Amino acid sequence: MSADAIVVGSGPNGLVAAVTLARAGRKVLLLEAAEGFGGGLRSAELTLPGRVHDVGATVMAMTLASPAFRELELKGVEFAHPPVPAAHPLDGRPAVLVHRDPRRTAEGLGRDAGVWLATAGAAARAGLPLIDLLLKPLGPWPRQPMTFARAARFGLAGALPATTLALRAFRTVEGRALLAGMAAHSVLDLRSPITAGYGLLLAALAHVVGWPVVRGGSQRLADALVAELRSLGGEAVSGHRVRRLAELDAPTVVLDVTPRQFLAMADLPAGYRRRLSRYRYGPGVFKLDWALDGPVPWRDPAVAGAGTVHLGGTLEEIALSEAEMAAGRHSPRPYVLLVQPYAADPTRGGYTLWAYCHVPNGSRLDMTEVVEAQIERFAPGFRERVLARHAMGPAELEAANPNLVGGDIGGGLASLVQFVRRPVWSPAPWRTPLPGVFLCSSSTPPGPGAHGMGGLQAARLALRG
Ligand SMILES: Cc1cc2nc3c(=O)[nH]c(=O)nc-3n(C[C@H](O)[C@H](O)[C@H](O)COP(=O)(O)OP(=O)(O)OC[C@H]3O[C@@H](n4cnc5c(N)ncnc54)[C@H](O)[C@@H]3O)c2cc1C
Repeated sequence: MSADAIVVGSGPNGLVAAVTLARAGRKVLLLEAAEGFGGGLRSAELTLPGRVHDVGATVMAMTLASPAFRELELKGVEFAHPPVPAAHPLDGRPAVLVHRDPRRTAEGLGRDAGVWLATAGAAARAGLPLIDLLLKPLGPWPRQPMTFARAARFGLAGALPATTLALRAFRTVEGRALLAGMAAHSVLDLRSPITAGYGLLLAALAHVVGWPVVRGGSQRLADALVAELRSLGGEAVSGHRVRRLAELDAPTVVLDVTPRQFLAMADLPAGYRRRLSRYRYGPGVFKLDWALDGPVPWRDPAVAGAGTVHLGGTLEEIALSEAEMAAGRHSPRPYVLLVQPYAADPTRGGYTLWAYCHVPNGSRLDMTEVVEAQIERFAPGFRERVLARHAMGPAELEAANPNLVGGDIGGGLASLVQFVRRPVWSPAPWRTPLPGVFLCSSSTPPGPGAHGMGGLQAARLALRG
């Protein structure tokens, strides 16, 4: 197969790379293994006819904030915001709400109002320049000294384990739980370095751009990118899995794959092969999608307006469940990340809902009962609303998308080591030792999320030659 540039894989990173190359005048061929385009942006009728479910990403904060998508200025994609970005219900107390406005959020945190404004609020005040820096950790960096000062301040708190920041700086059950729920998106033991940073970045995103969904489903974003590629003369082929690099005939090849697949498809120099083999995958997820006959009956009605809900109770409970998962065990009361797109978008054919919990990589345990029990804990009567359900454990996730190795939805562990060595230590880790061959998946900086930044960076390097 020949072209000026071949992009393998159509996740957000592959799609951004393909469009960036095509806009620069390259004849681009995009090859996708699955029957549909989008990778983590795919939507499908997973439960009942007419019900639109996002198979992967729904919450598009990273997309909206990303320099890659801001530069693309795509037409025809509409973002819909829920009344409240996120909620964290607690037993016997009102839920904690993350509003767009940091001050309003702080008001719900009592004695922790000040510390919220000094951490997440300060990151939010630093705004998009700080977020740009975090999404482009290897540069090019903005020149404003103020941005660096704010980044340094963010770095001091963000480098800490979430448990340390929560116990040292926060005093209330609400504040500590909120930070834990945010930080647990990292799929790391919350006693690990930089987990506070993940939590604060996500909170800052809620304040700066919100946590919206794509109206009609995330697939619309993938479809818009494919349409843009085709309008520029590019070709996109689905149902074509690339097994060996030797199949491809192009001066530029951009791979939206993770290190394990790259190792299997290419003859690599021994040193690079050894370095790549050290790359570690993280825990997996067990994901459930439901079709409901009405909204989730939350005990605290304020949770109904939230797009994302963190379930798992207090800091101590969430930290324990994430420590169990990191040690290779299943938690009986896991942290559950739940998304109710209908809070923002009524166009998905009714009330659809998804949630996942973290499980050891490659786990085969059915977590349906424990996940639903966590929802029932905060929304008694939930199960009576379920019309149909669809479950995907690590094996099913990986079968649908080979990048989800063992159910790891982040393309590799997001630890401190793999923040700087992603997938190898290099000032330009998107470049590989093979001439003209680049990696762009979430196994490259800045890591997981539907931001497309790996694709932008790889395409720019490819264009530079
Ligand atoms: C259940 C779930 C929920 C998530 N929720 C969110 C969220 O709310 N917000 C957010 O920002 N992120 C979320 N994410 C993470 C986000 O989806 C990923 O970080 C992002 O999609 C990674 O993009 P990517 O382009 O690197 O790879 P992917 O999106 O994984 O795409 C890779 C593509 O490459 C294809 N491919 C792989 N190998 C080959 C091959 N050999 N030949 C041809 N094609 C190949 C795959 O089929 C796939 O389509 C979620 C992920 C999952 C799974």
